[in-house]
Amino acid sequence: MSKSKQNIYASVDSLRDTIIGINDFIHDHPELGNNEFQAVELLTRTLAAHHFQVEQGLAGLPTAFKATYANQAGGPIIGLLCEYDALEGLGHGCGHNLQASSIVGAAIALSQNLGDVPATIVVYGTPAEETTSGKLPMIKAGVFDDIDVALMMHGGDRTTVDGKSLAMNLIDFIFEGKAAHAAVAPEKGISALDGVLMTFNAIEYLREHVRSDVKMHGVITNGGIAANIVPDLATAQFYVRAADRPYLDTVLERVYNAARGAALATGSKLTIKEVKRCENKVNVDRLNQVLLKNAEEAGIKEISPPRSSTGSTDFGNVTYIVPGACLRVAFVPFGTASHSTEWVEAGTSEEGHQAVILASKALACSAYDLITVPNLLLEVKEEFDKAKSAFMSSL
Ligand SMILES: [Zn+2]
Ligand SMILES: [Zn+2]
Repeated sequence: MSKSKQNIYASVDSLRDTIIGINDFIHDHPELGNNEFQAVELLTRTLAAHHFQVEQGLAGLPTAFKATYANQAGGPIIGLLCEYDALEGLGHGCGHNLQASSIVGAAIALSQNLGDVPATIVVYGTPAEETTSGKLPMIKAGVFDDIDVALMMHGGDRTTVDGKSLAMNLIDFIFEGKAAHAAVAPEKGISALDGVLMTFNAIEYLREHVRSDVKMHGVITNGGIAANIVPDLATAQFYVRAADRPYLDTVLERVYNAARGAALATGSKLTIKEVKRCENKVNVDRLNQVLLKNAEEAGIKEISPPRSSTGSTDFGNVTYIVPGACLRVAFVPFGTASHSTEWVEAGTSEEGHQAVILASKALACSAYDLITVPNLLLEVKEEFDKAKSAFMSSL
């Protein structure tokens, strides 16, 4: 263990009250996506007090921010991304309080231990991961374009890195029919709800004939108003996911055709709206290794292989711009599902507090390695370029 890393650990330990304070405050004041004003106020105030230059409101998102610490001119630019949105009706069931606190802890501890090594640390506050995916407009606005690497943390039921995430499209199906009295003149009506129901059925049949990594799950967001009126408007929302974008695009076309067929069969009018799209993660093993090695050195005893079953994240889109990796740190027992009350309750537990301190140390030291170990960043970038171009040529 180098002296510099020991100093980083000591900085994290001396920041313990600040880091735990952020974690518990955000946990106890859950805010939904794009409304995380209290969290952002606390995070930016803390970073500004530790000599970071804060810019709040990016890409038209009032709860997005960027906080920059430049240590001398030049050197690598390390992006540390955090989320802080909660889940509707549940609170912090995805543990975003843990990542906001540990990213800020890592950034400050790193800034205090760079000596005369040139480097820039940029903390990005990325809102609404669970809903509108704040990273997507931030990518469009180019806010990640000049960083060399993007690191994230997420709580978990095991300590690991994300080896993959699924490509995903969120889609609204809007069926318009014709209202009529359901008993007196049903023959004059066109049921928009029938269009929605037939779409669900057609997708059930499709499920048998797609690859096993495909996930298709939907809800009826509007099924009509009254049972005695033929519904003239009905809507459904679907998530469609697959391991990679090229295959997902072929599945999407078949899902759209299922809805188009339903519209044709019922005589209703269909509008398909793409709400958002996330890309599957571009995986960089070298970067994952850096995170895992530093997690181990920081004192995390049990490290697991990447999860085989994953969801989707807007961080996947970031990994097309720059090499990116996410460290998952255990704070709930193995097998405990996320988006659950168990995750909410563990957010301020002893295990939760320990996870944010260890994550702060592991992330700060990973960034320190990327800045100081000769050729490491170059190796990461070379692997990233290869992985990205292999994927792009398959599109
Ligand atoms: Zn989540
Ligand atoms: Zn999450």
